[in-house]
Amino acid sequence: MKMFCAGQWQETSKTINVINPFDQSVIDTIPQGSGDDVLKAVSVLEQGARIMKSMTAYDRSLILQKASELMLERKDDFARTISLEEGKILAESQVEAIRSAEVIRLSGEEARRMTGEMIPLEGNAGGQNKLGFTLRVPCGIVAAITPFNFPLNLVCHKVGPAIAAGNAILIKPASDTPLSALKLTELLLEAGLPKEAIACITGPGGEIGRAICTDSRIRKISFTGSYEVGTQICEMAGLKKVTMELGSNSPVIIMDDADLEKAAMAVSMAGYANAGQVCISAQRILTSSAIKSDFVDLLKSKVDALHTGNQLEESTKIGPMVRESDATRVEQWVNNAVSQGARLVTGGTRQGAIYAPTILDNTKPEMQVEKDEIFGPAVALSYFDDIEHAIQMANNTTYGLSAGIFTQDLDRAMKFAREVESGNLHINWSSQWRADAMPYGGLKHSGTGKEGPKYAIQEMSEEKMVIMHLT
Ligand code: NAD
Repeated sequence: MKMFCAGQWQETSKTINVINPFDQSVIDTIPQGSGDDVLKAVSVLEQGARIMKSMTAYDRSLILQKASELMLERKDDFARTISLEEGKILAESQVEAIRSAEVIRLSGEEARRMTGEMIPLEGNAGGQNKLGFTLRVPCGIVAAITPFNFPLNLVCHKVGPAIAAGNAILIKPASDTPLSALKLTELLLEAGLPKEAIACITGPGGEIGRAICTDSRIRKISFTGSYEVGTQICEMAGLKKVTMELGSNSPVIIMDDADLEKAAMAVSMAGYANAGQVCISAQRILTSSAIKSDFVDLLKSKVDALHTGNQLEESTKIGPMVRESDATRVEQWVNNAVSQGARLVTGGTRQGAIYAPTILDNTKPEMQVEKDEIFGPAVALSYFDDIEHAIQMANNTTYGLSAGIFTQDLDRAMKFAREVESGNLHINWSSQWRADAMPYGGLKHSGTGKEGPKYAIQEMSEEKMVIMHLT
């Protein structure tokens, strides 16, 4: 496919192959964009930002509504593209395509509700005869830098609110999974988005990323990806507004009074969906020592039923990881944990980019499988004696994106909700659940700012204070 830059579809002399991670076949080629392409794109996006600002919220919402309808009509094509470029099983890609249409539709609805607030200035000393209110105005040009693991929905979570708020948008999709974002760009143009108001520049992050971060005409960067790249972007971005949706090693606490069947079922989904490549995957399974062997046996029986294979085949529950090198990394971390004393309960094998669903038992906080983000189909089980100990273990991490607890006890559940340092807290579910409309974001090294169309619109607009001095 071509990339969309400066109001037109363009090729470049250098190209990049897009690979199906299951069999390494080339499914398409894309341009390798450069820093110069960013400069060219931004000059046109400046015009686009003026056009977008002059449109009414109603007109912007109609474009998003139309785009959502088109996406639903083409959901099967989008799902197949996601599966081919990312390795996600088709059933999960279909859910992603439908959710993406919903995110765009929600963004259109929120565009109509974007508003400021009245500020009661008369409640302040010296505030008599003053009328105050705020106006929400677009930032101008917003850049969306996105990861590989949800190559459509996480782009929609940025593009939808950016358009709703009246901005022009520059998309920099992950270089392994650019096709979904390019197809989204095509669809938005078809839905009536002015060609000056969008660009999608493909290629590796380094040069393109630097050009985006250092261009003063780009006013806001919305990034989803790793902590390492996120911090580099923040260093380069200076005083630009940023939203950072970063990684995690999410804990799930299984108390001694938990519904073990439900907990094992939830962890067998949350540890392995999309081959464990979800930012809120269940990674550290903190289990009460009182139920140790019961829970491990139950979880093993469920995980052993997860069939691996070609992501396009209906029987497959776990497809390949996005790159063979990622599967090799997970293999290395698991092997290291075993050599440091962890017990391999099941899994631990690799075939190309497919890593077998793995359970490690008796892991320790200093092992990489607990300390860092695995981002692969493996969970690490460790044990606690009481709720205080469980919460201390849950918080023993630099991350804080999502966490879950299984318990029948309301007081324990609320203690967990208050004391665990995490952006999302699930009671009687694992760390892995998201409604697209809800506020979503992490604490600590998991990021700053919130997504969910209503909240992202606030981050992609500026609030101006207007004061009328009446006589
Ligand atoms: P990544 O950080 O490697 O890449 C993300 C994006 O940044 C890509 O588009 C990449 O090309 C670009 N990039 C790379 N170097 C850059 C640079 N120097 N400057 C600017 N851009 C650069 O992440 P990934 O491997 O694609 O995705 C996995 C990570 O994303 C995991 O850590 C995962 O937890 C995180 N993630 C977080 C959320 C969330 O909502 N919090 C959601 C999904 C994924």
